[in-house]
Amino acid sequence: MLFFLKSSYSLEIIWPTRGIGQRASLKPVVCFREHSTDTDFEKLLLNENPDAVIVTEPDGKVAHWSQGAQAVFGYAKEEAVGQHLANLTIPADQLEAEARARRDAAEFGISTYEAIRKRKDGSLIYADIITKPIKDPDGNVQFFLSNKRDVTQLKALRDAKLVETRFRDLLESTPDAIVIVNPMGRIVLSNSQAERLFGYERGDLTGKLVDILLPGRFRGSHLSHRSFYFEQPRARAMGAGLELYGLKKDGTEFPVEISLSPLKTEENMLVMSAIRDISDRKKIERVLSEQNIELQNAAAAKNQFLASMSHELRTPLNGIIGFSEFLIDEKPGPLNAEQKEYLNDILTSGNHLLHLINDVLDLAKVESGKMELHIEQFKLSNAITEVASVVAPMIRTKDLTLEIKLADDLDLVRTDQQKLKQVLYNLLSNASKFTETGGTVKVSATRSENNMFQIEVRDTGIGIKKEDLEKLFIEFQQLNTGANRRYQGSGLGLALTRRMLALMKGTVHVESQPGMGSSFTIILPMEFDNP
Ligand code: ADP
Repeated sequence: MLFFLKSSYSLEIIWPTRGIGQRASLKPVVCFREHSTDTDFEKLLLNENPDAVIVTEPDGKVAHWSQGAQAVFGYAKEEAVGQHLANLTIPADQLEAEARARRDAAEFGISTYEAIRKRKDGSLIYADIITKPIKDPDGNVQFFLSNKRDVTQLKALRDAKLVETRFRDLLESTPDAIVIVNPMGRIVLSNSQAERLFGYERGDLTGKLVDILLPGRFRGSHLSHRSFYFEQPRARAMGAGLELYGLKKDGTEFPVEISLSPLKTEENMLVMSAIRDISDRKKIERVLSEQNIELQNAAAAKNQFLASMSHELRTPLNGIIGFSEFLIDEKPGPLNAEQKEYLNDILTSGNHLLHLINDVLDLAKVESGKMELHIEQFKLSNAITEVASVVAPMIRTKDLTLEIKLADDLDLVRTDQQKLKQVLYNLLSNASKFTETGGTVKVSATRSENNMFQIEVRDTGIGIKKEDLEKLFIEFQQLNTGANRRYQGSGLGLALTRRMLALMKGTVHVESQPGMGSSFTIILPMEFDNP
């Protein structure tokens, strides 16, 4: 502050420019006439003093609130007088220090200290405080008079100097944009990567409120996050799970990822934020998610197509199979051996193709949610023997022993009979297919816990390697693929088995040892209850 008297005896007060936190409410120029009295000057000093001059009762209740106090803290005189300072300007974590300063003032006649204070808008300032007790003739404190000067900017510059020497070189060498902020939210150091990212000139950010790097809509919540962080400082990502944005000097926004870490200096705690522009990553994520939607649409269209093609595919194939059988049975006339052999090849291939198409169509049906269940009550023993009779020719050709064991307490079940048979057929035909001539296939059905029943299909076949077990139920996975594939199949049977069982609220498990055999166990509810 600069006072000087002009020859006309008028008094002019000129304040230096203050930058951030400039006080618009105080008029910077005051003129006094020739006959000004001491009282006029006293008033002038009290009212025009840019520092906050506050008188409080011993318990902290405000008795006087100068215009400077209004300018520094934002509360009007009428709002402040009668209130306790603790409710106005002293942050909760500073109350104890404030009480101590008052006790010192009462004891020693004056107390001088620096402390963090809060403004009406919630922002924090750094104040240089002098408190003096006003005592009655008996020596009891009647009031405290305190003068509070806002030194936020000075403090920021001081912090800046402190970290500059220590961290500048280090920060310049990191690829990330780094901004160090003090507890008042003032930037005390930013590296050139940060300045470039936000579009500022060298050193331009020092002393500024960090809020200028955020879009307006984030500023309010940022203030409370910041004070919370200073209370519980630890290295972490900022706003985990939230979409954060930075604001460039020219007003453009960009998505950012921020990680915070506390930085302790002798003077106070600072926070270091590493800021990364994730515009490119976001762009890629957007493209991927669009492609994902396209893929999902394409998959849905494919399933839709397959599900509705069922009839179109099967009809001509049934024609081929039916007429081959008709010819093989020599209904239209006798055949020679060669013709019969070729026709049998057509029939086998046709049947194989039909099986494959059926599996593909069934899978598409399950995937498109079009596979329906037909729940009925039936005898489990009948279902198992029917399936056994279908695989019987293969069992016979390979000279396998088929053992079927059904527990006495297991008879009627309620589920989708046709699908259960299809599942059993898949397991039994696999067991027969992957068991060498002369081996054994055992089917045993028992009751299990929670009103469920289980059917185990065990073979003494080639077995499955441990690392292959989890691939089994994935579509189109055949373990014995390669140049010398010995077994026919589509690699769809088990995938379909698992999916159909899931529809029926069941599960399938497998245990196997290469060279020793495999055991597939399905577990299903005795009574399928409709959802
Ligand atoms: P596929 O129609 O090819 O048999 P599956 O989905 O039924 O298709 O089976 C997938 C693969 O799992 C088979 O190709 C085979 O490698 C292996 N597999 C299935 N059951 C057995 C079994 N009982 N013993 C050995 N390997 C089996």
